[in-house]
Amino acid sequence: MGQVLEKVLADVVARWFRLRGDRVRFQIGTDEHGVKIQRKAQQEGLTPQQLVDRNVPNFIALYDRLSITYDAPFIRTTDRKRHWPTVRALWRKLQDAGMLEKRTYTGLYCQGCERFMTKRDLVDGKCPDHHAAPEEVSEENWFFLMQKESGWLKKLLTKEKGGYHIVPQSRAHETLSLIEQGLEDVSFSRPKSSLQWGIPVPGDEGQTMYVWCDALTNYLSGLGYFTDHEEKEWWDKPAEVTHVIGKDIARFHALIWPAMLKTAGVRTPDRLLIHGFLTCDGQKMSKTIGNVVEPEEVLAKFGGNPDPLRFYLSHEIPVGNDGDFSWKRIEELYDAVLRNKLGNLLNRVLTLIKKEGGDIIDIRNFSVDGDLYWKPSDEWYQGEGNYWKLYADAFNDFELHNALGIAVNLMVIGNGRMNDHKPWTLSGTEKLTMLSVFAEHLRHIALMLLPFTPNTAYRISKQLNVPYAEKMLAREFVITKEMKQWGGQKDWKKVGEPEILFKPLL
Ligand SMILES: [Zn+2]
Repeated sequence: MGQVLEKVLADVVARWFRLRGDRVRFQIGTDEHGVKIQRKAQQEGLTPQQLVDRNVPNFIALYDRLSITYDAPFIRTTDRKRHWPTVRALWRKLQDAGMLEKRTYTGLYCQGCERFMTKRDLVDGKCPDHHAAPEEVSEENWFFLMQKESGWLKKLLTKEKGGYHIVPQSRAHETLSLIEQGLEDVSFSRPKSSLQWGIPVPGDEGQTMYVWCDALTNYLSGLGYFTDHEEKEWWDKPAEVTHVIGKDIARFHALIWPAMLKTAGVRTPDRLLIHGFLTCDGQKMSKTIGNVVEPEEVLAKFGGNPDPLRFYLSHEIPVGNDGDFSWKRIEELYDAVLRNKLGNLLNRVLTLIKKEGGDIIDIRNFSVDGDLYWKPSDEWYQGEGNYWKLYADAFNDFELHNALGIAVNLMVIGNGRMNDHKPWTLSGTEKLTMLSVFAEHLRHIALMLLPFTPNTAYRISKQLNVPYAEKMLAREFVITKEMKQWGGQKDWKKVGEPEILFKPLL
């Protein structure tokens, strides 16, 4: 579930960028090397390659079921054609720049983390994540001389323009304090006897690359960097390069990665979006406690529809915070918000309009200048500022839960207006006008839901029969100014067939 949180977060952001008109390259992949995989394969009587070839397609299938709109290629670090050449070229660049040095190193190694730890990383002599004392290991390693880059990194992370910005702010402070405490050089390889399952060091085949130069480089290898099939412009000339990453490996993205790029003469990224961990009912998910939630179970609960889970993660967990998964809470949200607030409102409005013949009336005259929401007569709702602006502002600050909160708030308002104004008690043009206002309200809600719950947004728009409905799920779809305007769909004349949006849970 932890990685589902990450992929959904990244997907919501990528979708929003596309919807506001940006060209987006959204890249994901799997880190498939390391001692843990090697050991796991041994236990199962497989080669490491067989193990990852068996498991990775399951991840890819899961991302598809979650409607994660990543761009091909899906980067696998075991891909010798696509990934390795960039990695080996980058290694040589670091070496040519004099930033790699071979040393005998004695250090504390945590098997669980698959990395050397410093005394500072430990709590009571143990790894805080694995609650085990690391073993003392002495071996020859190639080192990346990161210490040299401390001053430069501090500047990069604090620079207003052209810097590397960490979201949320609290994590930025954490990273800077790491620099203040003094950075150490980083082990970049291990002898083959300790680590076989990885990329051999160019020119020193007795050494295997350690995770940093291998896995971090996926961002470049996906673009064919340093090969004859480069698509460099995505990295070199975009408005923004954003990494979305969990808090456990965030500091390697914040420190090692930009230092590597700088050494190789490659542009550094612009933003690092760090997400927290997911607990279950307030407890760390663990096989021992037996509270591990599998994403497949959650999908199955909602008939394979990914939207309730996407909605839950976006609604409940502000970006950067740790979150909690609770079956009770997801069912509650499904019933209270998706079914009762959204599904019912849509169904009531469509059923009433159908009874009147299905026509949508031009309600532009009932809008207030600059206001998005309705004011057909004085006793009607006066509007609460420009919702689309608030929505975009929340997104631009990566406050995704607040952007979604605006859509939810509009559902609450819609239901309230329905009960207050009882359109079914009216007749003739007055009735149709009021119902058209509700339909227009729902059209806006659906558009706002599009990055979060794309399938639901599409189904609402299709039932409403808005002219752009069929194009909404295409990657090229952009939310235009007209779409954000009150009554902006002049060709929208009739509604479609009402259908139940969310079925009751069994
Ligand atoms: Zn550990």
